[in-house]
Amino acid sequence: MSRFWKNILWAIVTLLFIAFLFSLFAEPAKAPTTLNLNQLVDKINAGQVTQIKVNGNDLAVAMKDGSQAVAEKETESGISETLKNLNVSSTALAGVDLEVQNQTGWDYWMSLLLPTILPLLLLAAIFWFMFRSAKSGANQAFNFGRSNLRLSTFKDRVTFKDVAGLKEAKEELIEVVDFLKNPKKFLDLGARIPRGILLMGPPGTGKTLVARAVAGESNVPFFYISASEFVEMFVGVGASRTRDAFMTAKRAAPSILFIDEIDAVGRQRGAGMGGGNDEREQTLNQILVEMDGFDRDTRVIVLAATNRPDILDPALMRPGRFDRRVVLDLPDLNDRESILKIHAEGKVLDKGIDLRKVAQRTPGFSGADLANLMNEGALIAARENQKLIRQEDLFNAADKVLLGPERKSRMISQKEKEMTAYHEGGHALVAVALKDADPIQKVSIISRGYAGGFTMKLPTEDRHLKTRTQFLADLAMMMGGYASEKLIFGDVSTGASSDLKQASELARQLVTKYGMSDLGPITFGKSEDMIFLGREMTSERDYSEEVASEIDAQVHDFLMNAYETAEKILKTHKPVLKKIAEALIEKETLEQDDFYAVVKPFRIKPI
Ligand code: ADP
Ligand code: MG
Ligand code: ZN
Repeated sequence: MSRFWKNILWAIVTLLFIAFLFSLFAEPAKAPTTLNLNQLVDKINAGQVTQIKVNGNDLAVAMKDGSQAVAEKETESGISETLKNLNVSSTALAGVDLEVQNQTGWDYWMSLLLPTILPLLLLAAIFWFMFRSAKSGANQAFNFGRSNLRLSTFKDRVTFKDVAGLKEAKEELIEVVDFLKNPKKFLDLGARIPRGILLMGPPGTGKTLVARAVAGESNVPFFYISASEFVEMFVGVGASRTRDAFMTAKRAAPSILFIDEIDAVGRQRGAGMGGGNDEREQTLNQILVEMDGFDRDTRVIVLAATNRPDILDPALMRPGRFDRRVVLDLPDLNDRESILKIHAEGKVLDKGIDLRKVAQRTPGFSGADLANLMNEGALIAARENQKLIRQEDLFNAADKVLLGPERKSRMISQKEKEMTAYHEGGHALVAVALKDADPIQKVSIISRGYAGGFTMKLPTEDRHLKTRTQFLADLAMMMGGYASEKLIFGDVSTGASSDLKQASELARQLVTKYGMSDLGPITFGKSEDMIFLGREMTSERDYSEEVASEIDAQVHDFLMNAYETAEKILKTHKPVLKKIAEALIEKETLEQDDFYAVVKPFRIKPI
């Protein structure tokens, strides 16, 4: 027998069983006897009636013996009146529970319709649920033209107090918010309210943060969208999303619309890297159209952020669009200190901790790097079960953010350790012996990330200009590791490869970019920033073959001279090199003070 029939059989058996159970428990419905009014009166007088339910003209009579009966009264008069007219004694009537059920028309109809309607309602509900779950899937398909505009409901409110440095950006934005709030002041003077402000700067410098601070401070609706969402998932929706976003913002005016990472759509049109992206172009066009469509007094300001201003379409920058540009630079020493202070809040720091010292060793760190550093510091302290975050933890965290985690587990042989010690010692010693080199902050032979060891030289204050002599000192220092290996072991290792790469790049720049070679004050080739323009994949060469070989010769000279300088220094001060290497092998890491304590006694005269 097939399973199907078996199942059917089981279902029938079950149903029969249930029916049987019901018949056991359900009282057999006795058909009530029908009484005329006279019979009813007799029964009442005989005291056989306990209860009469009156329902319109219908009387439901309950007897003492438990049986039921029905009767009908006259329409014109009430029940007690009727009974009294028929000579029911009032004492007998007192023993009867009279209950008048006042059935309204509504109740009546409901009792009639409910049994029919209820199943229908149930069916409708089932259908509704089915449709709803089907629709939520379909919704995403039907709704994709709508932008994912989020009204600024960032979880934690950010204010300008949470943003360190970035003074120009803050000032500009405060002024713009003022435009939104008191437009009259500006319009009366005939000024046009700025349409767009473009925040540009390297990643992690706080572009999103400062925009959020505007949202937190300005008390106008703040809409946020990431440009990559414009072109998400489906093609052909970017433009409609853009329209939608601008419409929402305009409806809520005065308001701010923040388009983060605008380079995702604002890339130069027709750049054609890997084929033109029509979708992106249409989205960009729509943004341009929308911004042009603003009336003179539309009180919507469009903020946008990018870390690639170089690839943005020039049309975006035209007056009336993103006509204001704010550059967010990497923080300088003071700003780094205050960023560290902001992110130190809520962390348990050791009392004597000096955040300025941390700031001093972190040039080139972005705000995000510094935030990360503070967090890493706390993690390091926690890993060692400390109650407080100490200065060393922060220094350690800085190295970690810069170079990657320490790789203590990596086994190095004694020979490798020695080689690394002399290599790093070479860098450090050259730095000490050159007047124009930056001081050493830290030397270490602990492997971190990809680096076998590292020597950190750091300017105590940020510099914006660098001279040729300083570059030459840098080059010599880069060569120090290589020269030291060669001098001590008569051999060189792969440990010097990144030094050499860095040195070669720097030397080429000195020739082609800074005009610091014998070829004179000329730059060669389009600067490499242009590579990012997306117009061309390789930098363009604007010089002849002969010049190219002259450049190569100059680069070679720079490198050889640097190597010779380093070699000479190391040869003259070989005992110092030996001392530094020994100290490194013993302690693995020398902080600034420890390092200078090793070299001081030798009284090296910098050249
Ligand atoms: P991006 O410029 O890439 O948009 P973000 O604004 O996202 O950078 O910054 C990342 C994080 O770095 C911020 O959330 C904040 O914690 C920290 N940060 C960056 N700049 C600053 C600053 N100037 N002051 C305080 N914190 C900052
Ligand atoms: Mg950002
Ligand atoms: Zn090196």
